[in-house]
Amino acid sequence: MKKYNLPVILLKGIVLLPQNTLKLEFDSKNTDNNVIDMSLLFHDNYILVVSEYDSRNLPKIGVLSKIENNLVLPNGNNRVDIKGLRRVKITEFLNLNKLKEPLESIVSEIEVEKVDKEEFIINKLVKEIKSYVKNIPYISNSMFPLIEKEKSLDKFTDIVVPTLINSKEKMLEYLNTINPAVRGEMLLKDIYQEKEMFQIERKIDMKIRKEMDDSQKEYLLKEKIKLLKEELGESSNKDSDVEKLKIKIKKLDCPKKIKERLNFELSRYETGSSMSPEINVIRDYIEWLLDLPWNVFTKDNGDLKNVKDSLDESHYGLEEVKQRIIEYLAVKKLSKSNNSPIICLVGPPGVGKTSLAFSIAKAMHRNFVKMSVGGIKDESEILGHRKTYVGASPGRIISSLKKAKSSNPLFLIDEIDKMSNEYYNDPVSSLLSVLDPEQNKYFSDNYIEEDFDLSHVLFILTANYIENIPEALKDRLEIINISGYTEFEKFDIATKHLLPKIIKENGLNDNFINISDDVILKIIRNYTKEAGVRELERQLDKLVRKIVTQIVTNDIKINKININDKVLEKYLGKEKYKFNTKTKSQVGVVNGLAYTIYGGDTLPIEVNYFKGKGNLILTGSLGEVMKESASIALSYLKSNYNLYNISYDKLINNDIHIHVPEGAIKKDGPSAGIALTLAIFSALTKTEIPNTLALTGEITLRGNVLAIGGLKEKTIGALRSGIKTVIIPNDNDQDLDELPDEVKNNINFIKVKNFKEVYKVIKNV
Ligand code: ADP
Repeated sequence: MKKYNLPVILLKGIVLLPQNTLKLEFDSKNTDNNVIDMSLLFHDNYILVVSEYDSRNLPKIGVLSKIENNLVLPNGNNRVDIKGLRRVKITEFLNLNKLKEPLESIVSEIEVEKVDKEEFIINKLVKEIKSYVKNIPYISNSMFPLIEKEKSLDKFTDIVVPTLINSKEKMLEYLNTINPAVRGEMLLKDIYQEKEMFQIERKIDMKIRKEMDDSQKEYLLKEKIKLLKEELGESSNKDSDVEKLKIKIKKLDCPKKIKERLNFELSRYETGSSMSPEINVIRDYIEWLLDLPWNVFTKDNGDLKNVKDSLDESHYGLEEVKQRIIEYLAVKKLSKSNNSPIICLVGPPGVGKTSLAFSIAKAMHRNFVKMSVGGIKDESEILGHRKTYVGASPGRIISSLKKAKSSNPLFLIDEIDKMSNEYYNDPVSSLLSVLDPEQNKYFSDNYIEEDFDLSHVLFILTANYIENIPEALKDRLEIINISGYTEFEKFDIATKHLLPKIIKENGLNDNFINISDDVILKIIRNYTKEAGVRELERQLDKLVRKIVTQIVTNDIKINKININDKVLEKYLGKEKYKFNTKTKSQVGVVNGLAYTIYGGDTLPIEVNYFKGKGNLILTGSLGEVMKESASIALSYLKSNYNLYNISYDKLINNDIHIHVPEGAIKKDGPSAGIALTLAIFSALTKTEIPNTLALTGEITLRGNVLAIGGLKEKTIGALRSGIKTVIIPNDNDQDLDELPDEVKNNINFIKVKNFKEVYKVIKNV
């Protein structure tokens, strides 16, 4: 085996493999520079490069290399490019201990072993390397042109290893492994391992980056919120919030269970991340629990005489209503039981239901709260939404109690006749559970989740129409009817209650405005049309305000102002309603009586007939029951045409058209039965019916007249419209006692059992 002598370069921390080039710069004073000189001068630029890893144990393998470029730099240093050629075996080092002499060696060539399936292995390696390099951005792919055509595995591995392998120890292993096949195998293994490592690294990387992103995001948002809060002058500090809540919870007088719940929620709030969406839900919930009047009770005024006096002071008349309320309170006070039925005030708008309830609360020294259930379709409006819903909140009962600020307020539930109960989630049964003394001690709102005791609440309900109150609810109620007011009553309410109140509210002296009785009556008759006094109050308020404005803006100095008929129009504008403007008495026109939201009113019924086949045409927004009444009326007259001298020919060869004017207003109910019958009779027999007569009563096919409801309202309306005679069903006899004197004294009532008696009345007028 050929041996030769070569100068040696010892590398520390660098490994040169064959096929690679090393760029080195030598200090001119360094002995290594002599090595270069030796190589250049005596060895044909050949040199041995030894990568040392343990100076006591010099390696047995070195790389025969050739100096390719030698550049002497201005500072005298040498810059050389040394290209590794092949592995050689080092048999001996010369001058090893002679520090001043250049290191030399004796080396012998190594014969490279033949590799089985060399091409296959190279191809495999190329494939793996390519897929590996593709995923790793920091590995250069500049080696590809070199390896693509390389047929020797020996050279191939030496070309790629420095690019792919980072560790110096590993490089040395490659250097010291002479067999190319073994090196190929090593390389494959290392690529696999690197690939795996890379995947793991990437995973970790991504995780870390995500964590960093999240925490960075959280940090940035927190900072932003902090700045915003500072900008708004709010404290940004959750800790101080927690401290404040702690004090509030400690001070709160509430059941033990509630306190426990509050403390539990507070600890959740304290430990939760400020960025979690739940934290605000918890905060809101704590706020709600803190705001409810758990153990707050006002002391009742037990002096019922005093309560009665207050009601008298605030509300004119309504004697029976007030008396029943006082009785109810007395029974409740005595029995201490919660089982008494609940008061329900029923009557048209503006008759004082709400204000009366408010006065009761005031007189009893209870807080007052009002909740309307009109139009409620879903029980969650009463019982609240579970916290899991976005934007959940408690239902109206709990919200109202928060407003009430005590556990025993007077709680007015308005418009119970306008509640919908046609849905599966019917709110009526929820309301029942609220009112039921057996259940309401443990009332549970879906949002609050904890029981709230409603048994000390005094509930009062209101409705406009008794028929529309859900049956299940009606059973539990003590109905107190408040009917509309007569003109006389309205006049008294206006002069004794409304005007003094309004004058006081406008900061005037009692006697400053003198409004004549005629003016007040005119306002009642021509500026309002209602059962109650709400519109009347509004008109009086408008009048007083206009007077005050005029005085203030014109700086008028007077002690008293008189309002008479003539100046009224100046303040309130033109009359809105014409009083007593009935049309002339006419054939085929009859006054029925109706009970509308405006209170009682006359209901003119018009009938025409023309050639046809005996059909009935009905117009004017009539409801089903009223349409049936019209059919019954016509059938009755058809079968009794003889009795009433009606031409049978006319009955069967004509169509009959019944119209009830003011088509936009819906009308229904059976009480127009006798008025419809009389109107058809009047048209067919050309009998004129006096316009001062009105009728109310249901008719049957046999002509019997049945009782109707709302007589008081209807007759008050009739009086207002200038009606002098009212025909009523005999069965409504007992209702006559309840009619206001004004009505009794001015209207002539005629009671009838059947239509024959109506006919008799008509014959005699
Ligand atoms: P409702 O609840 O029946 O619709 P409100 O209680 O709102 O009616 O009454 C409307 C206005 O009429 C209130 O200002 C009330 O004080 C007044 N009012 C109604 N009835 C009377 C009465 N009998 N005496 C004094 N004021 C009354």
